[in-house]
Amino acid sequence: MALIECTECGNRLSDAAATCPTCGAPVPRTPGPEQESCPFCMTLVSSHATTCPSCQAKKGYLYEPRYGVFGKTGTLIWGVAVPAITVIGIPFSLYAAYRLYVTGPRWFQPRHA
Ligand SMILES: [Zn+2]
Ligand SMILES: [Zn+2]
Repeated sequence: MALIECTECGNRLSDAAATCPTCGAPVPRTPGPEQESCPFCMTLVSSHATTCPSCQAKKGYLYEPRYGVFGKTGTLIWGVAVPAITVIGIPFSLYAAYRLYVTGPRWFQPRHA
């Protein structure tokens, strides 16, 4: 257990705390080799995880309010292949392919607390 400084208020606090006792800001964690921290609640999750166990944020490539967050296969089918059939969908296909191959997955927070 170590003492770290809160990024929000500068208060010294234990890195075992989930949130800063002074201002309530989530405490950032240092991710291990196979870990990353959820951008919404700072919880450390496995880099292979697609759902944050703490705040239910989802990791994927595209987010659609009705269908949720798309993983790799879903993005290929519904983001790239299906829109590409229609002329109007081609810009969206290009965007989905860009997300898939260039930017990589990101975290989405489908439901706001
Ligand atoms: Zn603080
Ligand atoms: Zn989270």
